Amino acid sequence: MTISGSEYIKRIDALNNEVWVNGQKITGNISEHPAFKGIMKSKAHLFDLQNNEDHKELLTFKTSSKKEVGFSFQQPTTLKELEKRRIATAFWSRTNAGMLGRSPDYVNTAIMSLGTAHNLFGKNDPNFGSNILHIYQKAMEKDLTFTHTFINPQVNRSTSYMEEDSNIIAAKIIKENTDGIVIKGARLLSTQGGITDELLVIPAGGNFIDESYIYAFTIPSNTPGLKFLCRESFVLSDSPFDHPLGSRFEEMDTVVVFDEVLVPWENVFLYKDYDIAFSMFQETNFNTLLLYQALTRMIVKTEFILGLAESLIDAINIGEYQHVKDKVSEVIVTLEILKGLQFSAEIQAKKNNCGTLVPDAKPLNAAIYYYPRMYPRLVEIIQLLSGSSLITLPTDKDFHSPVRNYIDQYLQGANSTAEDKVKLFRLAWDLCMSPFGTRQTHFERFFFGDPVKLSMGLYNGYNKNEYVDYIKQFLS
Ligand SMILES: Cc1cc2nc3c(=O)[nH]c(=O)nc-3n(C[C@H](O)[C@H](O)[C@H](O)COP(=O)(O)OP(=O)(O)OC[C@H]3O[C@@H](n4cnc5c(N)ncnc54)[C@H](O)[C@@H]3O)c2cc1C
Repeated sequence: MTISGSEYIKRIDALNNEVWVNGQKITGNISEHPAFKGIMKSKAHLFDLQNNEDHKELLTFKTSSKKEVGFSFQQPTTLKELEKRRIATAFWSRTNAGMLGRSPDYVNTAIMSLGTAHNLFGKNDPNFGSNILHIYQKAMEKDLTFTHTFINPQVNRSTSYMEEDSNIIAAKIIKENTDGIVIKGARLLSTQGGITDELLVIPAGGNFIDESYIYAFTIPSNTPGLKFLCRESFVLSDSPFDHPLGSRFEEMDTVVVFDEVLVPWENVFLYKDYDIAFSMFQETNFNTLLLYQALTRMIVKTEFILGLAESLIDAINIGEYQHVKDKVSEVIVTLEILKGLQFSAEIQAKKNNCGTLVPDAKPLNAAIYYYPRMYPRLVEIIQLLSGSSLITLPTDKDFHSPVRNYIDQYLQGANSTAEDKVKLFRLAWDLCMSPFGTRQTHFERFFFGDPVKLSMGLYNGYNKNEYVDYIKQFLS
């Protein structure tokens, strides 16, 4: 069943998750807290769209038992289903200009990929297979939202570093009993931590030496001992005029602390099994499907940036200059490259062992190499095109003050009122200069992992032999 926006808000409020912001534990409804009310409203809107008759067909699908569930839970088995998934993600993403990196379809895609690969997790113990299948079915039926933590705390990244048992930092299994496993330590970096129903945890790379780090599970966000430690909020106000993006789409990032958290056995789907821990990425293809979702969002965001660039140019009438056209061409080329990579991934999709039609990983890996490097340049282009208009930004209150007549006169645009022009440039500022905007740049650089390691993965996984043979033949 799909939920409505108000059901989502009620459900998260009722969980009463342990969330800490600025030295204080949130008490009362989290949906009313200044750091969360904007983002929760934006998420609620996504859920409402699922129930809107005009969009229902795109945003939901009917299970074999004729239940209507969210689109991202559908296992794509045909090209048409894959395309529908892409169109639905783009539709949701357009409501937030691609700013929500963790809209519910992101982690739900992982839950679908893991759930449909239940045979893999049940290979050595059928209980783990039925657990992940049940997790997937429950998530689909209840339209759950998840946050995820796939990384260990950034304390010491040297290859020779080994954590000592007496000083636990990275979350690990410290005990097990008939009820479940007990986890102690911390994990990074749960975006939207505290405002989702549940948390998905899978093994973090690099710590496979010790089997106490090999586990995967989901748990409700209000499980005793689970704490979400927030960074400072980047919601500067709830004015959509002053902070058009931050007031609505600030997702929040949290460190997750497991203070001896008991994870019931029925929530665990991987336990101290090296074989499955190593093969789960290849066998479930969940990373590839996540990238497919992310690339769709990146395209929407780039379209937004292109529209913004062109609007800024019109506002101050700089379209006649060659370098201005050249800069916008860079944005256009980025957009077309992304679209081409998406098309290539889609038309080369193949079924995996679970029956899921998986887009081709090669173009998707190229996209996640390319965009983290290109996104900062797109932001720079907006800054370079804007000049002082990114700084001369009166607030909504200024427009309702005795100095308004000066603002109207001196800050007007080439063909627009001062109010419209300022509104536009406040949007540009929130994209590339506000705390919200700079976090967006950092997000695009790192959200899928360290770009250096991703590049190593791309190099190592890419079959270069036929090109080396080509050189050999050429020389002979
Ligand atoms: C805004 C934001 C939101 C995020 N949201 C989530 C989320 O919701 N869920 C989640 O699980 N994660 C999330 N991430 C975490 C993200 O996955 C990590 O930031 C990313 O994987 C990089 O890991 P790290 O931050 O530990 O950096 P590190 O891996 O520690 O890298 C730091 C620097 O050290 C270098 N370095 C470290 N180790 C090596 C090595 N072995 N070889 C070469 N160079 C090395 C890197 O190249 C880099 O320059 C988010 C990150 C950000 C910034």
